[in-house]
Amino acid sequence: MTNKELFDELSYERKNVYEVINDSQKQEMFTLCDEYRIFLDEGKTERECVNKALEMAKKHGFTDIASKSQLKAGDKVYKVNRNKNILLAVIGSDDIKNGINLVGAHIDSPRLDLKQNPLYESDDMAFLKTHYYGGLKKYQWTAIPLAIHGIIFTKEGKQVTLNVGENDSDPVFCITDLLPHLAKDQMAKKMTEGIEGEKLNVLIGGMPIKADDVKEKVKFSVLKLLNERYGITERDFQSAEIEIVPAFKARNIGFDESFIGAYGQDDRVCAFTTLKAIFDIKEPKKTAIAILVDKEEIGSTGNTGMLSAFFGMTVAEIIEKIKGVCSMVDYNNVIENSACMSSDVSAAVDPNYESVFEKKNSTFAGYGMALVKYTGSRGKSSSSDANAEFVYNICKIMDDNDVIWQSGELGKVDQGGGGTIAQYVANLNMDVIDCGVPVLSMHSPFEVTAKSDIYMAYKSYMAFYNNR
Ligand code: MN
Ligand code: MN
Repeated sequence: MTNKELFDELSYERKNVYEVINDSQKQEMFTLCDEYRIFLDEGKTERECVNKALEMAKKHGFTDIASKSQLKAGDKVYKVNRNKNILLAVIGSDDIKNGINLVGAHIDSPRLDLKQNPLYESDDMAFLKTHYYGGLKKYQWTAIPLAIHGIIFTKEGKQVTLNVGENDSDPVFCITDLLPHLAKDQMAKKMTEGIEGEKLNVLIGGMPIKADDVKEKVKFSVLKLLNERYGITERDFQSAEIEIVPAFKARNIGFDESFIGAYGQDDRVCAFTTLKAIFDIKEPKKTAIAILVDKEEIGSTGNTGMLSAFFGMTVAEIIEKIKGVCSMVDYNNVIENSACMSSDVSAAVDPNYESVFEKKNSTFAGYGMALVKYTGSRGKSSSSDANAEFVYNICKIMDDNDVIWQSGELGKVDQGGGGTIAQYVANLNMDVIDCGVPVLSMHSPFEVTAKSDIYMAYKSYMAFYNNR
């Protein structure tokens, strides 16, 4: 053995996915990603993602758990929580007391929510006031085409679904920015202050009505139009949930079309691949569960976030419908023998901003599924640090099933940090590790992922469901 051969055997280096996959796998990757782009275009809010997941689940033979009084191996069920959170399960052939295999992704993404009293007129233009949701760079949301998605109830209680700005024939909306000619003061500000939250007001109209007895003539015309089109009045915004999202569609990026650019890939890239995996598994030994949660971007709070009791309650329901009874001890046994892949994105090294990354311990676009043992910030604060035993097992499953993977953390130790649902799953007393897709321009209106990583994320969730 030469020294070079010995060195190669003793040392470790991550691999680019394209060095390993063959042409038929490449074709499978492109097909998966074509479907993924449609998923992104049709699911720009958590509600739309739940609808889309439900539609896909029904096509794959899943039924509402409420319709089943008993569950047996091979049954496929779902449960929807408040239209913003969904759990899917395929019942395994093993005794459920040996644990379940859970993959969990989030389907909320950073965006601008409408305030509850959003409409106003200024200088003969009508605007909607917003409150941003999640960690975003405010300057990225000005001067781009925006769409309006959400639901609003009329006074009579009729639910109106809004989706304006996605069809080519639709109008779009926007937040204006200051011309450079007059931006001397703005440009001298820190980037965090260049655009203020209260200036993220969406332009929605500018055609005043001829009405001498009404002062706000543009607001009047917008209200008339909304009433004619949707049957709503200004009061109805008080209870509405309306989200402002980028109006552009998911696109292939590069001459070789190796990347996907789109809004909301954190974390719909993992939500989509998680769904594809649970649909494709055949008769698993352990019960396979996928959960798509809301509110991750604001701390997993609320009754549709991972901190909600929904997950535990649904698992208890599954246990009871399998065994006829679910004591607290039954539930505890199941949970402590279970394991979770927290399927969430990681930061891909951006060669334009290399200085924030420690490259030996970062994840790279094109190098496969990203395994993140711990998240948190500045000294692993608020992190679920996965046990070595569990990480070893996951790595072995990945290697045994030809999943190309890499491991890393978000960035340099002192630079910042972030969290996922992993810490909340860990609190249930379950093994959990973050596994996902590296993203460039994360939390921007146009996030970028590598198709090869998307493909490997899908393969990794499949390998986990079929082999743990
Ligand atoms: Mn995420
Ligand atoms: Mn995020």
